[in-house]
Amino acid sequence: LEQTVNLAVKLSEESDTTGVEGDSNNTTRTHNTKSKATLSLKEDSDVRAISQSRSRGGNASTNAAILAQLGWDKVEFIGSIGNTTETDFCLYELKKYGVIVENCIKHEGLVQPNTCAIINKSNGSRTLIHYHGGFPEINYQEFSGLNLNLYKLIHLEGRTNVDELNKILRYISDWNSIDSHKIVKTSFELEKPLDFSSILSLPDVLFVSSEYASSMGHQDMQTALLEISKHTKEGSLIVCAWGSNGACGGIKRGCPMTSGDIVSVSAFPPPEGVKDTLGAGDCFIAACLFALMIFDDKGLNNDVVSRVIKFGCKIAGYKCGQYGFHLNN
Ligand code: ADP
Repeated sequence: LEQTVNLAVKLSEESDTTGVEGDSNNTTRTHNTKSKATLSLKEDSDVRAISQSRSRGGNASTNAAILAQLGWDKVEFIGSIGNTTETDFCLYELKKYGVIVENCIKHEGLVQPNTCAIINKSNGSRTLIHYHGGFPEINYQEFSGLNLNLYKLIHLEGRTNVDELNKILRYISDWNSIDSHKIVKTSFELEKPLDFSSILSLPDVLFVSSEYASSMGHQDMQTALLEISKHTKEGSLIVCAWGSNGACGGIKRGCPMTSGDIVSVSAFPPPEGVKDTLGAGDCFIAACLFALMIFDDKGLNNDVVSRVIKFGCKIAGYKCGQYGFHLNN
């Protein structure tokens, strides 16, 4: 969970200036790198923004905000929070959509992480400067205090707490193996280029970002799917989104998965043009989960996978045509 300060700037594509580059800690990141226009900022200069705004950020909290807006009845966000005005703002923004936040883990005296997003008005790309400051991630012990009877699906964002996430997924799997217990489906997002090899075989649904896939050396979404699915669970669904190329997905029915198992869906570009791509992946995941929970009862097959991914691409494409995450219609 984080607060984002958005600054919109209008910069010429040809300007002879210094680009904003990612540093070795990966704290600076340029979104929409597939776009031809480039964002360039002259170092040590004074650049005027043409607008500013403040928003709530963080992948899982955005997933929750979108799911709630799509009309899912009970959506909860569970994450680490501080106790500053940024925290209050972020929680207010979630509660506005009816997202439950009461089980968040509060850390007294800690400042909620902040991100500064520089938006290039000419192509909608966003360059992020993020301060994390070692903010604690949720751990297994905190998670195990939850009553799993209350949940149908738990989606986890792959962050640096890989060992704790592994324990959490195993805990849910153990819960599911007890006959009298209600089954809780698990879903996991691979976005950051971290070592998730201990996780891949655990979730029921795996979302792979182009950032993660590229970091593994994969050049396209179908290849990424085929390679990563070698390590996933039998019967699991693996989905890979690839910006304006759309997304693909498939059910792992055997090892290895073959190209015949893959369903590919084109993106749905917004008719009025792309305005803001930040969080398109979060919207995509939320919309896929929404559709999955609806079609789930009928069982997974290629037709269901296609409808799920199509819905994800439609909502994500719609989001790209507007600023922020408040779905207007
Ligand atoms: P992330 O935010 O993780 O980088 P992606 O860029 O892969 O996510 O985008 C996720 C989904 O959002 C894509 O599968 C696509 O459906 C949609 N999307 C992203 N960029 C565009 C775009 N420029 N035009 C239309 N749809 C887009």
